[in-house]
Amino acid sequence: MSRFPSDDVDRLRRRLIKGVPVLGLGFMSCRGKEGIPEAPPQSSVKPVVADPIVLNGDRGRPLPPSSEPGIRVRAARVDGDLVEFGPVGARFWVTAPGRDHRAMHVGPVRFQRLAAGWRVTWSVSGRTSTRVIEGAEPLTLTMADREEVGPEFRGRMLSGTVNLVGGGDSRRRHIDVVCHLSMETYLPGVLAGELFDSWRPATHEALAIAARSFALCERFHWLSRRSHDVVADERSQVWNGGLAPRRSSEAVLRTRGEVLLHRGRVVPGYYSASCGGRPAAAIDAISSNPVNGIAPLSVPDSDRRGVCPCRSFGPHGSWRASFDIRAFNEALASRVDTGSEVPRWPIDVELIEAFESGRPRSFRISSARRGSKPLELRAVDLQRGLNSTATGRPVRSADFEVSVRPDGIRVDGAGFGHGVGLCQYGTEALARLNTPAREILARYYPGAEIRRVW
Ligand SMILES: [Zn+2]
Repeated sequence: MSRFPSDDVDRLRRRLIKGVPVLGLGFMSCRGKEGIPEAPPQSSVKPVVADPIVLNGDRGRPLPPSSEPGIRVRAARVDGDLVEFGPVGARFWVTAPGRDHRAMHVGPVRFQRLAAGWRVTWSVSGRTSTRVIEGAEPLTLTMADREEVGPEFRGRMLSGTVNLVGGGDSRRRHIDVVCHLSMETYLPGVLAGELFDSWRPATHEALAIAARSFALCERFHWLSRRSHDVVADERSQVWNGGLAPRRSSEAVLRTRGEVLLHRGRVVPGYYSASCGGRPAAAIDAISSNPVNGIAPLSVPDSDRRGVCPCRSFGPHGSWRASFDIRAFNEALASRVDTGSEVPRWPIDVELIEAFESGRPRSFRISSARRGSKPLELRAVDLQRGLNSTATGRPVRSADFEVSVRPDGIRVDGAGFGHGVGLCQYGTEALARLNTPAREILARYYPGAEIRRVW
């Protein structure tokens, strides 16, 4: 079976609203019905039709649990063998479950990973003490004086039990800082990381249900495969840590235990910042795993196309980016095998395949010079190549068209992120029209049922 979404998601993923100072909340007016045509009229454009793999998509999705599960969140990956937790004077319980070790230490506590074990160093009143814990098992760390919230680490308040897990190889070692906490404790920090606090309660509630469903599917997939289920950034979903504003906490509480189901199993509730008015199918934009072929993650039928109000709400409805010849050549070079030829300027860029959604699938880039071989690139690869040559992420989605200019290329596109499932800007626009969370979810995950399962 092919890998679950999150592998690709680990590269592609997620919407990107956040952390997001970038966005600024200016509600620019966008181009309404104009812009990227639904499907280019050229006869050379072949639609790509997904295989009938829908039924297989059930196996990779979990049955809904009947009680609240835990979730393992990788809050940070620290390069090397050393990690330190404070603040000064804080008391930590440090345990090595496999070694039957439990001791209290006063911060700052430093953990050094050894070949097979850990060296723990702490100091009290200027006197430094050290203890070696043998065995390669992960160490766990909890605050002795605070139950809910853990220590602050790299600007994020951790939560739950903090696990230190060594990894990597002899050339490049690392320590993963992984929080183990309950699902409902985790979710407010996701809403805080993914949404503006000023956004409507219905937006927070809809995202709480989608994010809970997504996290359940990640947990199902990774439980026996690695030491964490999700990472705390946009590769999974942003997690701001254990402290969240009231609106986030209230939305999680109001939707406690509610998940998206399809044929009795949980739907991975993908979402992105903005679909640009043209939603993508998960099977096209996330990965070809059969899980992504289910109806709630497919492209809405033509009646629903264009209904997402994000096109005229928020800063990502449409955008434009320009690249000079040198940057464009660098972008192409980054996407071809070493030694392969990159078409030389002047070039022509032609759309050769589109998805059923109307979004571009691949482009052909050919040189006007004789004897030069054309290069075919998937839209998502061209997007990555172009973004690798620029600061920020000027090509915000894989839904774009390319115009060749005398001095380079211009990219005109719509949306931000992969465009699958719930659209955050679209959701907020609907919430401002008093659309309830359940109705919003019905639009973005057609055919999914919402049920409280714990
Ligand atoms: Zn949208």
